[in-house]
Amino acid sequence: MVDIKSMDLEELTAWLKAQGEPAFRARQIFRWLYRGAVSFGEMTDLSKALRQRLEETALLTPPKVARKQVSQQDGTIKYLWELADGNCVESVLMRYQHGNTVCISCQVGCRMGCAFCASTIAGKVRDLSPAEMVDQVLFTQIDSGAPISNIVLMGIGEPLDNFDTVLRFLALVNCPDGLDIGMRHISLSTCGLVEQIDKLARHRLQSTLSVSLHAPDDETRSKLMPVNRGVGVDRLMEACRRYFEETGRRISYEYAMIDGVNDADWQADLLAKRLRGTPAHVNLIPLNQVEESPLKPSRRVAAFQKRLEDRGITVTVRRKLGGDIDASCGQLRRKAMKET
Ligand code: SAH
Repeated sequence: MVDIKSMDLEELTAWLKAQGEPAFRARQIFRWLYRGAVSFGEMTDLSKALRQRLEETALLTPPKVARKQVSQQDGTIKYLWELADGNCVESVLMRYQHGNTVCISCQVGCRMGCAFCASTIAGKVRDLSPAEMVDQVLFTQIDSGAPISNIVLMGIGEPLDNFDTVLRFLALVNCPDGLDIGMRHISLSTCGLVEQIDKLARHRLQSTLSVSLHAPDDETRSKLMPVNRGVGVDRLMEACRRYFEETGRRISYEYAMIDGVNDADWQADLLAKRLRGTPAHVNLIPLNQVEESPLKPSRRVAAFQKRLEDRGITVTVRRKLGGDIDASCGQLRRKAMKET
């Protein structure tokens, strides 16, 4: 069976052409897929024979809503999706002034092992397919009725650890016959896989790269993030600099503020020193407390922010959405796993 929704329009055209179908059929089918068709039977402008053949040769893997939590505070919606094989991943719909944003997952679980993160506790089960990533955006839009204008790859998983799939996903949602979401409206967040950052830079995408830094010094960063061990912050920052030079896109640095771990003045000073000279933006994230972890949210967010700003760094503090529905990714899947 062919995973038809993971194909781009060109591949779909070639695949159909090999079966003697004209090129316009591909666009017809593609459009059905992006209107959320969950079976070939719905594609009423195709011949019965073709619909039949598609049912026999191609696979659609729409996710089911396993759980849905709606925030009473701000309308944030958190979805737990059940995939075709029974695995679950999460997406979150956030309603911002600048448009509706969906945060999606790229893997079932994660193997990066960050100490503060709920997604990685039970390791990685498998990568998602391009179709499974696209469907999170599409079915969030369909179920909520909120037109999606922005996508962030900040859900479960490490995007650069599922590199080819993520690249294909970007092309698919960017396609005018698909969701038609502009690259500049898409952010990809990474824990900092140096070689893959270089590889991504060569594609010169206009999407935003967010780097989860969380500490400016190797001792702290290696403690929090195993990915830093043997690599180091120096090499990561060099890769970020190359990324900016290659793409012209300013990098956004994520920094989850953890009490007594990464919130000292000297760490703000070192962070400012590291970022001086290249366009950067720091996003301070109030730590979401994870049940299994002893780490606590910092009480020094404002002081840390001011210290960075005094040193010329652009800083924002992430607004907390969906506080009443534990919307930070990985937590709903954990909860569901523990209950079953
Ligand atoms: N693997 C990617 C994307 C997924 S995590 C990455 O590491 O960037 C998305 C963001 O949420 C990352 O910046 C991650 O470090 C952060 N994050 C994870 N757990 C968190 C928590 N408990 N509180 C605050 N931020 C957290």
